[in-house]
Amino acid sequence: MDKNIIELKNINKIYGKVFKTQVLHDINISFKEQSFNSIIGESGSGKSTMLNIMGTLDKPTNGEVYIDSQRTDLLTSDQLADIRNQKIGFIFQFHYLLPDFTALENVLIPYMIKKVNPPKDIQEKALELLDMVGLDKVKNNLATNMSGGQQQRTAIARALINNPKIILADEPTGNLDTQSTENVYNIMRNINEKYKTTFIIITHDNRIANKTDRIIEISDGKII
Ligand code: ADP
Ligand code: MG
Repeated sequence: MDKNIIELKNINKIYGKVFKTQVLHDINISFKEQSFNSIIGESGSGKSTMLNIMGTLDKPTNGEVYIDSQRTDLLTSDQLADIRNQKIGFIFQFHYLLPDFTALENVLIPYMIKKVNPPKDIQEKALELLDMVGLDKVKNNLATNMSGGQQQRTAIARALINNPKIILADEPTGNLDTQSTENVYNIMRNINEKYKTTFIIITHDNRIANKTDRIIEISDGKII
């Protein structure tokens, strides 16, 4: 319970070679396994950059990143892809579902892309997740025929298909109405309790942030 699942040590991020902009300044932070966290801060403060570095989608200019006690900032891109597949699910503001696939197919997208039949247990897991996010009735609808809230709930189910220990969400409710926002929050909370998944959620919505167990505020690339 007390184990750190993600740790950032002395992280700096500088964009640009000629015109350098430092967007993260000496970030030190860790997250406990099973914790439910939010990150808030003004637009441009460095939230997405920090989340992308935690998720190994981006590399720090210097500093150390640990995922589940393994140092990752020195690994190759293939090694990082493996770690992401095994341990991290991502949810973004714009869900990036494939429009010509059904909700169920979108959850099973790694298999659709490889054009192989998903194993039975994975198919069952996909159905369980779609049920859990309240999409049992529309699971065979094309993504284009679902509401924004339903599409975002599909994206949550998709992020969970590999049983990740960590979910990183970048403004997952940024595009949703109040009712859908509440709904998506409740689903993330249920998943956190049921599967012990660690959540780190960037949000502009104080109602969401105030319901998380820990709020981290970023200002000008520093944690305050
Ligand atoms: P937030 O998510 O808090 O809105 P970001 O992490 O997206 O902030 O961006 C922080 C700062 O870094 C911004 O000033 C942004 O313009 C800059 N930035 C982000 N990505 C890049 C990039 N690839 N190249 C140069 N500057 C970037
Ligand atoms: Mg952002």
